[in-house]
Amino acid sequence: RVKEHGRNSVRQFIPEMGQNAISRLNMEAAMRRGLEQNEFLLHFQPKIDLLTRKVVGAEALIRWQHPQIGLIHPVEFIGIAEESGLIIQLGEWVLRHACEQQVRWREAGMPELQMAVNMSSRQFRQDDLASRVAQIIADTGIRPARLTLELTESMVMQDLNSTLATLRSLKNLGVSISLDDFGTGYSSLSYLRRFPIDELKIDKSFINDIHTNPDDAAIASAVIAMSLSLGLDVVAEGIENAEQAAQLREMKCHQGQGYYFSRPVEAEQFAAYIRRQED
Ligand code: C2E
Ligand code: MG
Ligand code: MG
Ligand code: MG
Repeated sequence: RVKEHGRNSVRQFIPEMGQNAISRLNMEAAMRRGLEQNEFLLHFQPKIDLLTRKVVGAEALIRWQHPQIGLIHPVEFIGIAEESGLIIQLGEWVLRHACEQQVRWREAGMPELQMAVNMSSRQFRQDDLASRVAQIIADTGIRPARLTLELTESMVMQDLNSTLATLRSLKNLGVSISLDDFGTGYSSLSYLRRFPIDELKIDKSFINDIHTNPDDAAIASAVIAMSLSLGLDVVAEGIENAEQAAQLREMKCHQGQGYYFSRPVEAEQFAAYIRRQED
């Protein structure tokens, strides 16, 4: 999959660092320092009801504002964070800040939003994940039903027994579970049915050419129909134009995200987007 690179991120610098063990250590050290120095921040992308065009939720997406390099996107550092184990700390930071923001918006009288947080594989495999999540829910005061944890197919399809146990313990907290980037991994459909999942997000690679490529349209349509018949919510990622949105609406896909509606933006801009909608 081709990942989006931010206009401000330095694309040459980081991948080169990644190939070099010593620089990799530098990168880890920089990330540790970044955590201490509060260099990480969250952007929020609205999740839209495709029929009413209302914002129903937000997805928190991490960014790194490096003092010298500028804004760095997750594709540049999540992998190294994952390999070094720093992802545990980073993931908790994201979860806590996303929950705090959801509560802040609720307290500011905004329509209450669903807050989606991406989990990494290593984070998902922590033995005490559910109690860590429970602690953050208690500390921040978010209503558990308002929190969605986004997992990928590849994460849930390894070690199926432990996946099932972890998903159950998370569901017991009352949070929602979403399967992100759906279609890019190898999901067993029978497990899809057995896992307590609430939502599927169709990967943007199927949405890109949905209005021009009949194969992609067929896949999207099949995933939507399957989701609906399994009682799952279905969200289309990466909607960039009106044609894609219209076609997805026709296919009975109820929710979507993408640059067509809004890029991921800072919290203040997100709130302004919602206020504009309410007028
Ligand atoms: P994702 O969870 O699938 O997030 C969607 C990505 O697609 C985001 O990239 C978003 O900016 C981008 N996107 C949204 N709409 C469009 C569109 O219309 N067109 C295109 N081309 N792209 C669009 P971003 O923020 O760079 O994040 C990339 C990935 O990094 C995420 O994919 C997620 O897997 C990971 N990630 C982001 N934040 C976190 C985090 O806090 N923790 C973990 N573990 N992973 C994260
Ligand atoms: Mg996601
Ligand atoms: Mg995705
Ligand atoms: Mg992804």
